[in-house]
Amino acid sequence: MAVSPEQEHPKKAFGWAARDSSGVLSPFRFSRRATGENDVTFKVLYCGICHTDLHMVKNEWGLSTYPLIPGHEIVGVVTQVGSKVEKLKVGDHVGVGYMIGACQSCDSCSNNAENYCPEMIPTSGAKYHDGTTTYGGYSDIMVANEHFVVRVPDNLPLHGAAPLLCAGVTTYSPLRYFGLDKPGMHVGVVGVGGLGHVAVKFAKAMGVKVTVISTSPNKKAEAIENLGADSFLVSRDDGPMKAAMGTMDGIIDTVSAVHPLLPLIGLLKNNGKLVLVGAPEKPLELPVFPLLMGRKIMAGSVVGGMKETQEMIDFAGKHNITANVEVIPVDYVNTAMERLIKTDVKYRFVIDIANTLKSSS
Ligand SMILES: [Zn+2]
Ligand SMILES: [Zn+2]
Repeated sequence: MAVSPEQEHPKKAFGWAARDSSGVLSPFRFSRRATGENDVTFKVLYCGICHTDLHMVKNEWGLSTYPLIPGHEIVGVVTQVGSKVEKLKVGDHVGVGYMIGACQSCDSCSNNAENYCPEMIPTSGAKYHDGTTTYGGYSDIMVANEHFVVRVPDNLPLHGAAPLLCAGVTTYSPLRYFGLDKPGMHVGVVGVGGLGHVAVKFAKAMGVKVTVISTSPNKKAEAIENLGADSFLVSRDDGPMKAAMGTMDGIIDTVSAVHPLLPLIGLLKNNGKLVLVGAPEKPLELPVFPLLMGRKIMAGSVVGGMKETQEMIDFAGKHNITANVEVIPVDYVNTAMERLIKTDVKYRFVIDIANTLKSSS
């Protein structure tokens, strides 16, 4: 007979889970494993709401199993460490992002790219090495192998740091990997949402000139004055788009809706790179001729490896980079999901777990 989530492990835990593809979240008792010798246990303080959470609770990718506790932008404070844990101690501010496990022996793992490991284990809604279900950060405690836990610099406010664990590294990683991080370069950021707004902040901190490309002209003031972008293009304004053709070393495209690639490829210089980090559900149309004429590169990228995630959050600490967030109580989470569908948030919802998640609720 299957063991109930509540009895599976020794540590009592509590969170909010979706029970079916309606995606509606409600209180849920479960359990976490005891702190193993390489494990870190932490009290969750905040958890960001990523668009992936929305896809997962509604089973839009057909991968979800229920009950499902979402959340992979998790920050908190360490309460217990295993005997072999070296880099973290009780009281440290820590974070867990998209993954909590990988094979740790394949080529990707050996090259600090656990995010591309074929056996990578997502933090939520997957099977861990021991066969038990992984439950995400909309919950009171986390237990994870220290390799998959990063230290959050003390100067970063934790609510603003939480989204860096997914949205942050998703944009930081391609800027670094594709060499779009050199001072004086010109990088475009398509879309100013959860991903795009931190992409602008990271690129600016790297000394890059940033142009935001958006479908909505009313985001201009915000992009320039609040996020620090150097310029702004409305993607359907033909004149300014034409004038900007051939000016960008690279583009980070964060849009997850189907959209035309041709105008973006046109903005690139020769040898320029268009990197997709959004995940449209349908294939995009790729005009090949403009890629050939200029030796341009199209690529994709997803989150980042653990070494890079630590580097990203240390860089954020050094440059005081956090996400712009709307902090919400956990009982607002279903409303937040509805608002997320309408992209009615600037720019990330973050759940105040410590103050609002009560096991009596
Ligand atoms: Zn995410
Ligand atoms: Zn691996």
